[in-house]
Amino acid sequence: MFSEMPHLYLHVPFCARRCSYCDFSIAVRKRVPAGEYVAAIEGELSTLVQRGVVASGDVFDTIYLGGGTPSLLPPDAISQLLDAIRDKLRIPHSEFRTDLEVTLEANPEDVTPDNAVAWRRAGVNRVSLGAQSFDDRVLRWMHRSHDAARIGDAVGILRRAGITNVSLDLIFALPAELGRDWGRDLDHALALEPSHLSLYGLTVEERTPLARWISRGAATAPDDERYAAEYLQAHLRLTTCGYRFYEVSNAARDGWRSRHNAAYWSGRPYLGCGPAAHSFDGRARRWNLAAWEAYRRAVAAGRSPLESEEVLTDEQRELERVYLSLRTAEGLHLTAPYRLLPSLTVWVDRGWVEVRGERVVCTPEGWLRLDALVGDLTGRHATA
Ligand code: SF4
Repeated sequence: MFSEMPHLYLHVPFCARRCSYCDFSIAVRKRVPAGEYVAAIEGELSTLVQRGVVASGDVFDTIYLGGGTPSLLPPDAISQLLDAIRDKLRIPHSEFRTDLEVTLEANPEDVTPDNAVAWRRAGVNRVSLGAQSFDDRVLRWMHRSHDAARIGDAVGILRRAGITNVSLDLIFALPAELGRDWGRDLDHALALEPSHLSLYGLTVEERTPLARWISRGAATAPDDERYAAEYLQAHLRLTTCGYRFYEVSNAARDGWRSRHNAAYWSGRPYLGCGPAAHSFDGRARRWNLAAWEAYRRAVAAGRSPLESEEVLTDEQRELERVYLSLRTAEGLHLTAPYRLLPSLTVWVDRGWVEVRGERVVCTPEGWLRLDALVGDLTGRHATA
């Protein structure tokens, strides 16, 4: 039931081009089929209501438009999507919570004064900006379509439009030959005083331009030492500046955590709509057809766009709970089987975890070894 899934994710699959490291489920389009996309989401919401997956009369806590590049949608399409959520689920406008968190992922080049004002008017109150780096040479290598100056401009435009909750995404651990100055990028990001920062280490995914460059020797694979050094550098720099890492990759000023992302890490149910979107009801995980055209055709034919589902066993749910809990600053509640593990003392002695009352919490060095810690605790390697 909807009342148990107060977190809604809409996957917007369109991008102007593919970034060099990205293997997400996207559809590269010069012209975004906004009308078809809105109609498809409306269709999926109707299907969910008919199947009783969601019901009317309750309120969301968070809505997250992710992608892909949701900011490629025209502002009136974003407004229509939020209206469709209210109307299809028959939620009176007055029942939309005033503190509803509505996040839009945006690329800096899409942040214009007109767009920002229209997003705010549509109900968007948080923007996650794909900054990635403040080095133009690095941005070109990544195949990003903005330059460094555009990031600061975008933050200013959003603030003037009344969107003060701005998060910046940055990527670290880039190949050494790029000569990227991570400390300088952190300085630039902090100078913009974002409320929130998300830091992602570069990973090499199959079938990406980066994987091809590495296979023919045109780029080197990211190395673990650089990853660890840059992660620890960022952790120290951000915490010194008043940010708190509330999750391994996410830091925020007090009061500015992402409630949507926090819901994932605490294992709360969420509903996903759009191609490749995942849903979780606390017991089963379901996911939609990944390709935009296949998804669109299914919805247009009145069929469910669900591709498959996986019902988690008790063991899988416990493994996920341990893994997700240890990702967060709240850590893992030390229930009996874990409290007695001899390895716990070893980790504490090595400075990888701290035991705080009834909870075990990773240090930054522990977060670098998260998979090993979870494997040690559970006797299994994490798959989440
Ligand atoms: S904008 Fe985001 S989703 Fe689109 S190609 Fe780049 S990294 Fe992937």
